[in-house]
Amino acid sequence: MRLSQYPINTAKETPAEAEVLSHQLMLRAGLIRREAAGLYSWLPMGLRTLRKAETIIREEMDRAGALEVIMPVFQPAELWQESGRWTEYGPELLRFKDRHERDFVAGPTHEEVITDIVRRDIKSYRQLPVNFYQVQTKFRDEIRPRFGVMRAREFIMKDAYSFHVDAASLQQGYRAMYDAYTRIFTRMGLDFRAVRADSGPIGGDVSQEFHVLAASGEDAIVFSDEDGYAANLEAAEALPPMEPRPAPRETMTRVPTPGARTIVELSRMLEVEPSRCVKTLLVEGSEEDVVALVVRGDHELNAVKAQRLPGVANPLRMAGAERIARATGAQAGYIGPVGLRGRVYVDHSALALADFICGANEKDMHLTGVNWDRDVGAVTAADIRNVREGDPSPSGRGHLRMARGIEVGHIFQLGSKYSRPLKAAVLDESGKEVTLLMGCYGIGVTRVVAAAIEQNHDERGIIWPEPLAPFQVVLVPLNLQKSARVREVADRLYNELSAQGIEVLYDDRDARPGVKFADAELLGIPHRLVVGDRGLEAGRLEYRYRRDSENTEFAAGEAIDFIKARMR
Ligand code: ATP
Ligand code: MG
Repeated sequence: MRLSQYPINTAKETPAEAEVLSHQLMLRAGLIRREAAGLYSWLPMGLRTLRKAETIIREEMDRAGALEVIMPVFQPAELWQESGRWTEYGPELLRFKDRHERDFVAGPTHEEVITDIVRRDIKSYRQLPVNFYQVQTKFRDEIRPRFGVMRAREFIMKDAYSFHVDAASLQQGYRAMYDAYTRIFTRMGLDFRAVRADSGPIGGDVSQEFHVLAASGEDAIVFSDEDGYAANLEAAEALPPMEPRPAPRETMTRVPTPGARTIVELSRMLEVEPSRCVKTLLVEGSEEDVVALVVRGDHELNAVKAQRLPGVANPLRMAGAERIARATGAQAGYIGPVGLRGRVYVDHSALALADFICGANEKDMHLTGVNWDRDVGAVTAADIRNVREGDPSPSGRGHLRMARGIEVGHIFQLGSKYSRPLKAAVLDESGKEVTLLMGCYGIGVTRVVAAAIEQNHDERGIIWPEPLAPFQVVLVPLNLQKSARVREVADRLYNELSAQGIEVLYDDRDARPGVKFADAELLGIPHRLVVGDRGLEAGRLEYRYRRDSENTEFAAGEAIDFIKARMR
């Protein structure tokens, strides 16, 4: 590609609208342009990378035996009513009417449509298992679209759906997708990790996310330093403390704590560690007005774990001031489990405390020397906190470490969640009707491009992993417009490299060397070849790998072999 015929529009300045580096660099390099919140166009340079990601994904899905289809972006409401998601799915689901007043949705995902196809087309166990996939536009009306294509409203997903007659086959199909995903992200040259994810109402260890590791990642992931255990923070289990609870030694005492509404203020005022205090959070109940959740003062509540408990409203909602006053007669900041009626869930670590400090259910008052059995009474033990760095690994081996990740893929054993309400069934070997089991597998194709940049960049720009680079080589001639010799050599190199199937970005613009170098680095092209008069006089060309800071000189006649030897 000759850059003189390619209207790129790079920018030096950091765009004010972009918070994260990948978004800034994608705008500065002219890969994408914003149309409205969460809606982006992909310009030619960006599209080349997007297509490379898609190609790797397609090749590995095909290799795993999945069959490509394309389903409609817009889907009839009837299917969503059948599955129950017409009412369950929140405002992220864009609903609209056509001219005949019929309801439709813009597909955020395609379980309903594919299940509808399968229930009509697949009649016998002999046609199973099967896996259908597509690479296609999704729409989710995200409440806060941000970070460019990382969390967009319209984005491209590779989604796949497998169908099986029994659990063993589902597990096999799931495993095949796990392996395919591992190959995909490895081939993309990304540093990634597969982690256990919360499988929501379905339960069991049947969902994993693939995360690209990056300090700026939105998700916290944890892993054991001694074995392969890895989970996202939402799903990571906190083990109950090993040591038995000490016997009570203090008597329960009411102490004035004026203005101390937070654990930090409280522990400062009473000069105790936050880990000696407990936090009592009142949330809305599904049967009662409120449910109390108690965690140790130095721990954080895990909303995903909490909203799964019986009696707790899902999604989790903090109780408002009115409900809190009704339940305790007090206000937030001074709530505690003593004398509280109704359901109380206590995190294992909080339950292991003796002589602890908690709110007195009275403004500006706390209780010290509190003990569970003696002073509180019946409570339910539960795991409702986030794990922390250094906690013992739930695998039983090693301790937990933390990292940040960007979710680029998610694989799921759905079971009969959609096949049952949509009645997707086949006749098995004995002629009996069985409901199909289903797996689903997504990759955020547009997101993975941003994630690759988030993981691979420096102060000068993008550093593409080679398999995703829009071009492999950038050819930079110096003084091209004046030097016939430079033009001759550069033109020849461009033709020869291209003839070898190497993708070359030929910067034949009439621009200063500094501009060309800056653009080449911003665009993140892995291999840079410089052709200049001074070097040619000595029969030399100049080479630099994007990750390196030094140039290498080599004999002009060996350019093809030299470049090929450096490609990976
Ligand atoms: P998230 O937790 O990031 O909102 P999700 O769990 O809702 O994502 P899935 O339903 O698992 O997303 O979708 C499969 C994949 O699609 C995700 O792993 C992610 O890579 C991608 N994806 C989801 N939402 C978006 C979005 N708003 N913009 C870009 N990619 C997205
Ligand atoms: Mg997900």
